[in-house]
Amino acid sequence: MAWKIGVIGLGFVGLTLATALTSKGFDVVGVDIDEHKVKCINGGKPPFYEKELDKYLKTVINKKLIVSTDYRLLSDADIAFITVGTPTNPNGTQNQTFLKEAVNELGRVWRNSSSKKYRLLVVKSTVVPGTTRKLGYMLSMVSGLKLGSQLGVVMNPEFLREGNALYDIFYPSRVVIGCIDERSCSVIKELWTKFYESIGTSVPIITLSLEEAELVKYASNSFLALRISFANTIANICEKIKNCDVINVLKAVGLDPRIGTRYLRPGLGYGGSCLPKDLKALIRFSRTRSYNPILLEAVDKVNEEQPYKAIEYLMREYKDLKDRTIGILGLSFKPGTDDIRDAVSLKVIRKLLELGAKVKVHDPLAIDNTRKIFGKKLVYCSSPEEVLRDADAVIIITEWDEYKELKPKVFKELMRSPVVIDGRRIHDPAVFNKEKIKYHAIGLHI
Ligand code: NAD
Repeated sequence: MAWKIGVIGLGFVGLTLATALTSKGFDVVGVDIDEHKVKCINGGKPPFYEKELDKYLKTVINKKLIVSTDYRLLSDADIAFITVGTPTNPNGTQNQTFLKEAVNELGRVWRNSSSKKYRLLVVKSTVVPGTTRKLGYMLSMVSGLKLGSQLGVVMNPEFLREGNALYDIFYPSRVVIGCIDERSCSVIKELWTKFYESIGTSVPIITLSLEEAELVKYASNSFLALRISFANTIANICEKIKNCDVINVLKAVGLDPRIGTRYLRPGLGYGGSCLPKDLKALIRFSRTRSYNPILLEAVDKVNEEQPYKAIEYLMREYKDLKDRTIGILGLSFKPGTDDIRDAVSLKVIRKLLELGAKVKVHDPLAIDNTRKIFGKKLVYCSSPEEVLRDADAVIIITEWDEYKELKPKVFKELMRSPVVIDGRRIHDPAVFNKEKIKYHAIGLHI
């Protein structure tokens, strides 16, 4: 069957999904309320950086992929994916406003459609357990479509990593689908089976209940967050022990096949649009169910405090940061993206400004996004060397490859005083110490 597919919300997840589906021959209509985004996409330009997305987008836009702000274009859709944002409310609960608005709009369009064919709602946004079922009831009410015979509902969490988003959609470790009934399940299974056949990959499709699928996403992200906070806890302990480097310790720990090395690196903590938000949402959700998830609370607390280790090291060098020039290398929440949502850099910069420091920053991709937040409060540099020049200290926050290539000699030559805080452990302490650079790093004895 040649499905007509709708994707609502054209951010990181939605645009990557729409581009991936169309690149394999599916017909997709994408809808977003943001006119600027839609205009960019129609011009063949993704409104954010994602590896290879522009190349793929150019081949499908206004051919297999039609993008608009007009929901009426979804009137004929057989399957509608919802990929709108699910941010956190100030009280910690999940903000579901975008989801509800999207479902209402879709429902009105389907109600007014003359076709009464079977339709499928697929929620891809990360939502707390119980949400997809409620959205299904809501869509049924607004559209007038009867659940089961005319309307199916699926929860299909997304596990892509920004920076590798297309690759992760083409070659995922698993596809998780939670379904309201058998019919919903068979339609979504058929879609993904066809998609992966067209790529020539075999991907396990795991079928669950709606609520299980919703929880899989939270459990996965919480576990990744836990590994990072664990690594940082061991790093912080290492700092109190002579002759102890956390890198050596965790490398040996990770060689145990039961443990493994991934997500077991020390640093200034995790950021980004998913891990912090999803962990907090699961904590809040558990509390509403009268369960206090103390393990998750500890993971979150470790991560909230970890960025300030950078300030702690600085204060050891300079008792007062007022009018000191501090350089920041790396603003995005990880390499390979221009995304700074919940990035560690934001917390460190805010604290430095509060303490009266002058802050110079560099990032290969994220300067524009950072400027939108801090405006004229920072000095934006076009090279790492410009950040180093006349700085009293420099903090490496994101492990971009170009920062790994900076030689100690460059720090020594350009900086007013060579104090280097390696927040991601990308340099060899021995090499820096030999050059008489004051090198501080997470997980080294102090
Ligand atoms: P995003 O903010 O980049 O994109 C969301 C888009 O939805 C925006 O373009 C916004 O304009 C649009 N939107 C909001 N309300 C709308 C409406 N009523 N109708 C149409 N469009 C609307 O968000 P994202 O990073 O793509 O994340 C989307 C969801 O996927 C979230 O729930 C997130 O937690 C989850 N997720 C994100 C990632 C990731 O790496 N970014 C990975 C897995 C899951």
